[in-house]
Amino acid sequence: MVSSIESSVGTQRKVVTAVPGPNSQALHLRRKAAVSAGLTVGFPVYIERAEGAILVDVDGNQFLDLGSGIAVTGIGHAVPALIDAVSEQVAKFTHTCFMVTPYESYVEVCEELAELTPGTFDKTSALFNSGAEAIENAVKIARLATGRPAIVVFEHAYHGRTNLTMALTAKNMPYKDRFGPFAPEIYRVPMSYPYHDGLSGAEAAALAISIIESDVGAKNVAALLIEPIQGEGGFVVPAEGFLPALSKWTTEHGVVFIADEIQTGFCRTGDWFAVNHEGVVPDLVATAKGLAGGMPLAAVTGRADLMNAVHEGGLGGTYGGNPVAAVAALATIKTLRDNNLVARARELGDSMLASLRSLQQDVAIIGDVRGRGAMVAIELIEPGTKTPNAAATKTIVGYCQQHGVIAITCGTYGNVIRLLPPLIISDEQLADGLSVLGAAVRSVQ
Ligand SMILES: *Cc1c(COP(=O)(O)O)cnc(C)c1O
Repeated sequence: MVSSIESSVGTQRKVVTAVPGPNSQALHLRRKAAVSAGLTVGFPVYIERAEGAILVDVDGNQFLDLGSGIAVTGIGHAVPALIDAVSEQVAKFTHTCFMVTPYESYVEVCEELAELTPGTFDKTSALFNSGAEAIENAVKIARLATGRPAIVVFEHAYHGRTNLTMALTAKNMPYKDRFGPFAPEIYRVPMSYPYHDGLSGAEAAALAISIIESDVGAKNVAALLIEPIQGEGGFVVPAEGFLPALSKWTTEHGVVFIADEIQTGFCRTGDWFAVNHEGVVPDLVATAKGLAGGMPLAAVTGRADLMNAVHEGGLGGTYGGNPVAAVAALATIKTLRDNNLVARARELGDSMLASLRSLQQDVAIIGDVRGRGAMVAIELIEPGTKTPNAAATKTIVGYCQQHGVIAITCGTYGNVIRLLPPLIISDEQLADGLSVLGAAVRSVQ
């Protein structure tokens, strides 16, 4: 437990107005006039401050945060070490552009990434601003290093919203619809999804590999890109053995294995990276979200021979590895390490899985409970089938919001509720959040 991190806003959810309250409603009207309608309206309570696992809105309502801004504020809100590091850095300098005049924190983040990511070989990194940008660069590096064009991705995958990453992402609506044409040379194969395909990891890998070999040809493949546990696609945990079999195949065929650890990285799954669970060693790892506690930072880290194959000037970007974001990452990594939050993620996962599996016994609409570490989800179905139940999912999340708990949906069919609690959430807070979720699920039974 992180006893040094305390919350002066209190530790309880507290709904004191109708939600959204009057101040949020007024802001929402301004938003409608000023902000593009193309952005999702999740839960329009406008946040004024946040501490620990609690978000406080402009009407004084307090929400228990079980989403961490999609696994970004992975430790929690207002982490003291992060506040100090960022404040000090802002006063020193906010930008030079690393490619114009460099600074130490960028180098230090790359040293930490080399140390933390799996693999004992020499590694280097390049830093960027967003997950999508990291994925784009991982693809650039793999293509250049191999001289091959094709990229293999998986059903239900999510890799971002830029033009190349839209092509890599599976789901049409809302991410891709009418935004094409998309980049070529992207090939999609089935993901191991035990709840639906009933295949073992070895069987699912054999299926994916046979499609790659017949439809693309191994010698044309630059990279295989995969989320070791899918995020937006529905917290799909592949069957044991799937990732190792794919990794072995890539090594045998000179294909770059790129792990998209953007949502799973930095202790979320009860290990520093989700691939560690099965001892898989990727050639390149893309990270972002949990890396810098809310400051925009992303990275590609991997085999020095691949990373350094790129000509000087071939990688970069104005803001990539911004000094404020870089010190935030260093503070995040230190806090995760010093407080053994890897172990805390496992504990949180154990309690979430136990509580949700017991709930599943009592209700007919939870088809599957799955996850690893503090990355856990329930898949909602029509009773007696595996048909997605998006309507119930929406109602459950709405109930949680009205009762002061933030939970996020995901899944290709919008029928998965994912829990990504901040790692400093207390046992009491987690139990409280789970009891609200339980009541929400029972309310739609
Ligand atoms: C969020 C996410 C991305 C995209 O990251 P952005 O910072 O939103 O561009 C890519 N891959 C995965 C697995 C993600 O969860």
